[in-house]
Amino acid sequence: MRSYDLIVVGAGIIGAHCADLAVASGRKVAIVEAGVVGGGATAAAMGHLVAMDEDPAELALSRYSLRLWDGYEDLPQAEFRRCGTLWVAASEAEYDAIPARIARLGQVGVRAERVDPAALRELEPTLAHDLCGGMRVRDEAVVYPPRIAGWLVERCVAAGARLYAGRQALRLHPDGVQLDRGTRLHGPVLLATGGATSALVPELRMHQRRGHLVVTDRHPGMLHHQVLELGYADSAHGDAETSVAFNVQPRPTGQLLVGSSRERGATGREINPVVLRRMLQRAFRFLPALRQLQAIRAWTGQRPSTPDGRPYIGAVPGRRDVWVAAGHEGLGVTTATGTARLLFDLIDGHRPALDPAAYDPARSVA
Ligand SMILES: Cc1cc2nc3c(=O)[nH]c(=O)nc-3n(C[C@H](O)[C@H](O)[C@H](O)COP(=O)(O)OP(=O)(O)OC[C@H]3O[C@@H](n4cnc5c(N)ncnc54)[C@H](O)[C@@H]3O)c2cc1C
Repeated sequence: MRSYDLIVVGAGIIGAHCADLAVASGRKVAIVEAGVVGGGATAAAMGHLVAMDEDPAELALSRYSLRLWDGYEDLPQAEFRRCGTLWVAASEAEYDAIPARIARLGQVGVRAERVDPAALRELEPTLAHDLCGGMRVRDEAVVYPPRIAGWLVERCVAAGARLYAGRQALRLHPDGVQLDRGTRLHGPVLLATGGATSALVPELRMHQRRGHLVVTDRHPGMLHHQVLELGYADSAHGDAETSVAFNVQPRPTGQLLVGSSRERGATGREINPVVLRRMLQRAFRFLPALRQLQAIRAWTGQRPSTPDGRPYIGAVPGRRDVWVAAGHEGLGVTTATGTARLLFDLIDGHRPALDPAAYDPARSVA
């Protein structure tokens, strides 16, 4: 049996950040990844780093995390680009609600400004001209998540961590975890297993929400900001079985990444043409010039989600030395940095910068 100070199961963006902090703290670390490092939800993501303000807990975690992401700005592997976020209003009601939203963001130190329709046209001339204005958050950025996960894991391995690549954790045992091919690892376990977490700990209820993305050929300079409709939160937090929202991101290559959709209970990886068409039609309404572009690839990914939409970050109740960081839905890239920091404050018994109660896994078994 091999012993470690921490066994991190899952090397997506969450597990990679957690493993990196564990190694940096001097621990002897094992990383267990059944597939490709960063190849799960992390590879499917758009990579926006955005403060979402629908839920105070989500806002606190995203704000905390964004500050930590600043440290990645000069890292070539992050492909970090501070393009800013433009939230656009399709109706006067959405435009009128912007000051309240700016105030909410301002309370946690996120600076945002209202943009009237004329200024919106100046900032992004290719957007539809009948939009009612928007809100600009200048400091926000985009990154390339799978590459960051890969780079972090490589850094861990170079510093002495052991990567069990292509190996699956089959079950927990009282002192560690049982892998396939008869390998047993001994030590505290951190589950960063995204949507697969319930397979190892059934009492942590999870479901997944499938999302589609499309990437176009190259049109540098067509858009400058990542652009989302202000109604995006209705799609992200609503109860609809299927929803779409406008979300387009200019990649450093000049390509446009087009989202987004959410489907409950859709387990496969296949494209749903009905949902894809709905998503693109929504995008054409906000960015008509998209109709002229060539889509070169479309794919889907599963957002790992908890029943209340907040991630599980903390000790798994009733299990000794088992920790979890999973269930970040559509914001796991943004919140990976803060999640890892919060979790290690809890593991090490330090006072965390955030109140951890909202993310306590105990709520799943209450
Ligand atoms: C279409 C789409 C767009 C998105 N866009 C964004 C965005 O722009 N910004 C943002 O912040 N978030 C976005 N997200 C959400 C984000 O991708 C996820 O929240 C995040 O990637 C979750 O990371 P993770 O590490 O928890 O999960 P994953 O990346 O899925 O990693 C979990 C890993 O655990 C491994 N694993 C699971 N079980 C086992 C086991 N038993 N043994 C060994 N290994 C195991 C898996 O192989 C996997 O690699 C998007 C998601 C989707 C689907």
